Amino acid sequence: MKIPFLSFDRINDQIKVETLEFVESFLDSKAYILGGQVNTFEKEYARFSTTDFCVGVSNGLDALKLSLLALNIGVGDEVIVPSNTYIASALAVSHVGATPVLVEPNIRTYNIDVTKIEAKITAKTKAILPVHLYGQACEMDKVMSIAKKYNLYVVEDNAQAQGASYQGKMTGSFGEVNATSFYPTKNLGALGDAGAITTDNEELASKIQALRSYGSTVKNKHEVIGYNARLDELQAGVLNVKFQYLERWTAERQQIASWYKEALSNCEGIILPFIIGESTSVFHLYTIRTNNRDELQEYLNTKGIETLAHYPIPLHLQDAYKELNHKKGDFPIAEELSNTMLSLPLFIGMKKEEVELVAQEIKMFCNKNVKKEDVR
Ligand SMILES: *Cc1c(COP(=O)(O)O)cnc(C)c1O
Repeated sequence: MKIPFLSFDRINDQIKVETLEFVESFLDSKAYILGGQVNTFEKEYARFSTTDFCVGVSNGLDALKLSLLALNIGVGDEVIVPSNTYIASALAVSHVGATPVLVEPNIRTYNIDVTKIEAKITAKTKAILPVHLYGQACEMDKVMSIAKKYNLYVVEDNAQAQGASYQGKMTGSFGEVNATSFYPTKNLGALGDAGAITTDNEELASKIQALRSYGSTVKNKHEVIGYNARLDELQAGVLNVKFQYLERWTAERQQIASWYKEALSNCEGIILPFIIGESTSVFHLYTIRTNNRDELQEYLNTKGIETLAHYPIPLHLQDAYKELNHKKGDFPIAEELSNTMLSLPLFIGMKKEEVELVAQEIKMFCNKNVKKEDVR
């Protein structure tokens, strides 16, 4: 039996009929850009996020970029970004001309270490950009109180945690403006690129509406130098279909995670995800840690089990960020994570037997390894 890291087959089966029906009516609608589908989705997603406004945009990176632009963050400014994240979080900061200032993650939650933020704040700092990584909400009370103390904006990167919460409050509702992505593999995924911004600030929402569409909200009037960064109407329609399932799918991801937790509970040498009491996780990924990551990945591969490392090269060691002048050893926790993290298969429709099979092979590998070390 082969177990892929991720498969669209089973999730697509659930939505196929409705999606094809939508595509047919879409063709006939002849309203292909910023029509009713985008509008409906924005209303639904704002309600879900418990924010007053949602603005659909082209993808997650643009959502982050337009969020920062709306706050007038640019050249000469610094933005606090976790050192352990997908590179897009930092790229958005660079794209507006500002500098990402990296802060180490907490070794247990993998999210930004809130005790290390203040030391990185300077007179140039304009915002904190927390990322709810792998689906778990960051410690937002601490982030918000630091932001308040230093008069900084908060812009959440909620690409991986749609539906998660901290102390009962939804991710994507804490910051001044917050970004998310509907890249196909995200918890709510389109059939192509898509993203959104959530905010309670009406002025910022309308500024972002202008920014995403040539700087214009009224035909032929251009208020700012805008972009073409609209949420595609076809993708919005697909999102309207899939959105109905999101809560069910989140519960399913959490169920799969609890199967893994149970099956791997006394597996020596394997560190399981740690979810703090105040946070929920929507388990975008089920990421374990082990010192023998590469060997384990190779072993599972020979057994037909596909896994991925998130993320194998930390931001500060990427060629793209040479200009930040960081070297190996500067962010030891991010480096440690990049060498030890392994994400296990997790997708909608995954069966308990499949989870147990993955766990069984991991245990097999660990037992072998323990014995090998005993011999030495
Ligand atoms: C996916 C992702 C993004 C970027 O989203 P795109 O839609 O691919 O541009 C940004 N941040 C994080 C944490 C992500 O996982």
